[in-house]
Order: sequence, then C-alpha cells, then structure tokens
Amino acid sequence: MKKLLLTGLLMLGAMGITGCTPERNQVDLKVQMQGQGMVEPSEGGKFTQGSVVDVKALPATGWQFSRWEGAVAEAYRSETTVLMDGRKTIRAIFIPDSDPEIMEAPGGIINWRADGSEVLRRIGGEADIEYIMIHAISDAAANPSNPYEISRIRDIFDSYGVESHYVIDREGAIYQFVHDERIAHHAGAGSWNQDPKLTNAMNRYAIGIELLGIGTRAEMKDVIGTLANTQVRSADRGYTENQYSALDHLLHHLMERYGIPRGNIIGHEAYDPGRKWDPGALFDWNRILP
Ligand SMILES: [Zn+2]
Repeated sequence: MKKLLLTGLLMLGAMGITGCTPERNQVDLKVQMQGQGMVEPSEGGKFTQGSVVDVKALPATGWQFSRWEGAVAEAYRSETTVLMDGRKTIRAIFIPDSDPEIMEAPGGIINWRADGSEVLRRIGGEADIEYIMIHAISDAAANPSNPYEISRIRDIFDSYGVESHYVIDREGAIYQFVHDERIAHHAGAGSWNQDPKLTNAMNRYAIGIELLGIGTRAEMKDVIGTLANTQVRSADRGYTENQYSALDHLLHHLMERYGIPRGNIIGHEAYDPGRKWDPGALFDWNRILP
C-alpha cells in the first residue's frame, strides 16, 4: 500500500516536471499491417490532437510494400504522414515480391537467326550473367508515325542481325525474345569500366533489355534520317510511366535471380558512346532502383 502511494506521487511529480499534456488532448493511432514487414511507429501510440505523425512501412525480404489503407496523406508511399485530428487506424499492405509477367515474343523465342546462325549458349552458363544493358528500339525509320508495333521488332532484329533478351512495349508489357542463358547480339563493340574482359565482349556477360522508345531530335538525326525525324510525334519520344514500372520490376527480378549489383546496369550509350545514343537523354535513371 505504501509502495503504491509512492509510485503515484512519483508519477504526478514526473507529469509536473515534463508538463505532460492532459489526457483529453491525446488521440489514439493504431498502425496495423497485412503481409510481412515492419511498420513505424510499431502498433501506433497516443499523439497530441492535431499533430502530424510520420509513418513508415518496411517490407520483409521477399515482400514489397503495396499501399496504405486508412487516412494517410499518400497511400502509395511507404513513408508518409497521418494528421491526428481524431482516432485513426491505418494498415500497411505488403504483397509477395512475385515475378513479373513475361510474355513470349511475337514469332516465338529466337534460338536461330534469320541468317541461319545459332544464338549460342553462354560459355560459362548462367554464371556469366553479370550485367544488364538498357537499350531503346523503334520502327521510326520505316514508320515514323506508327513506330511502336511490337510485331515489327522481330523484322528489325532480323534485318540487322541483332536481338535482345527482352523488349518492353509502351504499355509496359514485357516480351522475351531470347532466353537469358543465350548470348544475344545487342551490345556490339565497346568497352566498360576499363575491364579488358568486357571489351567488345559484353554480349557474353549481359542481358539486353530494349525499351520501345525514341530519343531527342539530335540523338535520332543520324539514326532514322532527317525526314523520319521530322515526322516523329514529340509524344512518341522518351519513355512511358508503364515502361518505368515494368522495367523496375524486371530489373529487380533479374538482379535477384543472377546477383547483379546496381552498378552493373548500364546504358548502351555508356558502353559505346561514339556510336550509340540509347537509351539517351530522355531516359531518367533516377526512376529505376532508387
Ligand atoms: Zn542499343
């Protein structure tokens, strides 16, 4: 009994010292979650009426943050705020980090080229896959006003004797043209990071991803010709939101599967700056893998 009284006195003393806000101005925030991850503040707490609380959702390995449910400022940002103008319950939704949907290329997977040569298997197998190269491709030279027909890509590959593992169309659909374990001809001549093994030999080590896209007028001048360059609609230059999110998903998937670090994702232009423009100045590297 004496002990209890003493505790009570100590508590009153503490409240006096810190100027603790009266109970009626505190409101409850409950932070829940669905799926696997962590939330901050975990479970929530009591906050001053009218205050703005920072909340954070951190997915567990193998999971990704999807959205918040409840009255948060921005439902699709993992770090956002809650205005405590009353009792609030919010929930972070995590979803399994599933593989992106990948469709087979129109005309089928390329194992043999139009000239009869085989798309060879990587010499060291999957262990050779260390890099990802990002490209852009379009049909603008032949069809400047309708440059993004996916069915035309196979013809373009055939006519140049090249091919890439993946092509992402303007709607964000991902097509596989060449299996990862084969050496697609997409990088050509070039060099990277002063690594002699990569000089004119990037195809052996890299997966190639083509975005359907067209660069700036200056970038395309010598690629598609002057006339076609004037006929391309400005809205068709650059890349779409759907492409950025599809690319992000595909990159995550490939990096995880083959253990590729962020620094080994490069643009074609960086490998061969004298000859290649893609993906070019309109590609925003900040939009992928922040
Ligand atoms: Zn390229």
